[in-house]
Amino acid sequence: MSGHEQNYVQEAFDANLLASEGSNLNSFEQDLEKYLGNQSHVGALSSGTSAIHLGLILLGVQAGDAVICQSMTFSASANPILYLGATPIFIDSESETWNLCPIALEEAITDSIAKGRKPKAIIAVHLYGVPYQIEAVRAVANQYGIPILEDSAEGLGSSYKGQRCGTFGDIGVLSFNGNKIITTSGGGAIVTKTKALKDKALFFATQSRDNAPHYQHSEIGYNYRMSNICAGIGRGQMEVLDTHVALRRTMHDFYVDLFAAIASVTVFTAPNEDYFANYWLSTIVVEPQLTKGIDRESMRLAFEAENIECRPLWKPMHLQPIFEKYPYYGKRVAETLFEKGLCLPSGSNLTDENRARIREVVLKLFQNN
Ligand SMILES: *Cc1c(COP(=O)(O)O)cnc(C)c1O
Repeated sequence: MSGHEQNYVQEAFDANLLASEGSNLNSFEQDLEKYLGNQSHVGALSSGTSAIHLGLILLGVQAGDAVICQSMTFSASANPILYLGATPIFIDSESETWNLCPIALEEAITDSIAKGRKPKAIIAVHLYGVPYQIEAVRAVANQYGIPILEDSAEGLGSSYKGQRCGTFGDIGVLSFNGNKIITTSGGGAIVTKTKALKDKALFFATQSRDNAPHYQHSEIGYNYRMSNICAGIGRGQMEVLDTHVALRRTMHDFYVDLFAAIASVTVFTAPNEDYFANYWLSTIVVEPQLTKGIDRESMRLAFEAENIECRPLWKPMHLQPIFEKYPYYGKRVAETLFEKGLCLPSGSNLTDENRARIREVVLKLFQNN
């Protein structure tokens, strides 16, 4: 926390505006619009998941439609496709950014078109805060005239060629869940190119009330608006966003240094200078054949024995029981990452003492290698 969150929350109490309107909502949205630049319009919602759901609705996705989605992601990227009764088509990762593979993407699109069902939208993710291959993915999307829903839930504070993540899609999505780079306790936002589209999103998010003195509804509504209290937390958090990004990047540098002499471990790093990653999580890939059998799981257990929590990377969606029956295009990049990859402690509140404990576990584990 920045320390100012509670002052903004107090403002909501003082104004007696605790629900779906108030100065915190307006200011938090303005802060985000200013931060993202690029003439963005931001609507604050109750979660990143609700932003994806409304984003797909704004892109016209309906029951029976096909929607393309990166397989290597958190399930919240894909669940809203099923909320709408649409069919997900999952795409492998490329090995540079671990995100949507443009080659498999094009294959899936041409194949779907040949089967008479052109996909309605492409969901692309900035996994662990590393931007996807912006230009290559955009080129394929434009070639076939399919809009991009940019899931930037993990990408706030990242940028590509100086442009902030969240502004590359036809619609962008942010999350302020408790584990993200900044938090509003729970929350999210939709990023649009026009005010009209933002207004439409907020219309859906507040039960689609028509302009009438009574309750009149001509479209399906949702209860997805962020509260003015949560937005107060968000205003305070915006003051520390850049600091949080810097601290996460410091953790990444720490791991690059720690594993520099350990050939079997690669710290996931953005491919070149064009990519600025917030490194929401620092992650590694472990090659057991180079380490006398030390693999991802033995590393995880070594950390666990010292009460340090680590987790495997996201399990790809096409391998999940709920999604495995849907089409998948690609090879085994995402699967291999899941087998060999580990998320390491990455929080912006880690101390030198915490880092010393992490270092000790690693040095002990690899001392005979
Ligand atoms: C966290 C996350 C979401 C969902 O955001 P919530 O605010 O938790 O609903 C969606 N996509 C990705 C990639 C995420 O990491």
